[in-house]
Amino acid sequence: MSSQRGSLVIISSPSGAGKTTLSHKLLDEFETVKFSVSYTTRPIRRGEVDGVDYSFVSEERFEEMVVAGEFAEWAIVHGNRYGTARAVVEGALREGHDVVFDVDWQGGLELSKQWPDDALMIFVLPPNLEILEQRLRRRATDADDVIDRRLKMAIEEIGHHDIYPHKIINDELEQAYSVLRAVYLCRRHKEQAPQRARDVVASNLAANVGAHAVSLTTKGQEQSS
Ligand code: ADP
Ligand code: 5GP
Repeated sequence: MSSQRGSLVIISSPSGAGKTTLSHKLLDEFETVKFSVSYTTRPIRRGEVDGVDYSFVSEERFEEMVVAGEFAEWAIVHGNRYGTARAVVEGALREGHDVVFDVDWQGGLELSKQWPDDALMIFVLPPNLEILEQRLRRRATDADDVIDRRLKMAIEEIGHHDIYPHKIINDELEQAYSVLRAVYLCRRHKEQAPQRARDVVASNLAANVGAHAVSLTTKGQEQSS
């Protein structure tokens, strides 16, 4: 057991912006970081592993878990149910692990309300909507109608960027990751974090990425009206 309490590293984004890719890089680099495996009722995708990417459960099993109070939060996203097990959060905090939560804005909001001092909130944005669409189509894990639905929902998700103090534009992957790792290092090591990491975080906070999020939302609304 570590003497340091763990953090909830909450990473949200519109689908396709790259939060899974960025989270995996963080998990690969830092042994101190674990992944919270959510429960979901959505069908398993090609390449996914049950119990690793998600625990895939039936509607009935999910409902039983809701009734038994096993979820710290759960939400309906793109028509399927997703939930974070309470035991994962409590275990991680107790044992001093930092845990990555890949959740939507509803999950992010709920977790940060329940654990306000432990949550590190990060929102990943695409450079523009055309690239978001390309990434979703290139990933080729969803049918066309599912991709269309995810694109519509992306605008709504981006509209909640304000909940997240840290916002990262995922244009060039290594550059975006350098911001994520700096945000993490500053949280983990506080005043002892390397100066370079502190500079990266300060300049990202000063870059007003919120304005970029607002312009994406405006564009998305114009396109869909
Ligand atoms: P999310 O988890 O937010 O839905 P993913 O991490 O699955 O998004 O990324 C969506 C697709 O975009 C994947 O095919 C991934 O390899 C690709 N991708 C992620 N980040 C970048 C990037 N910076 N440049 C180019 N492609 C990217
Ligand atoms: P996907 O189906 O692409 O894996 O995920 C769809 C969305 O569900 C993503 O925005 C992802 O962050 C979110 N999600 C995954 N697990 C959870 C969870 O446990 N709770 C909530 N609220 N959202 C989740």
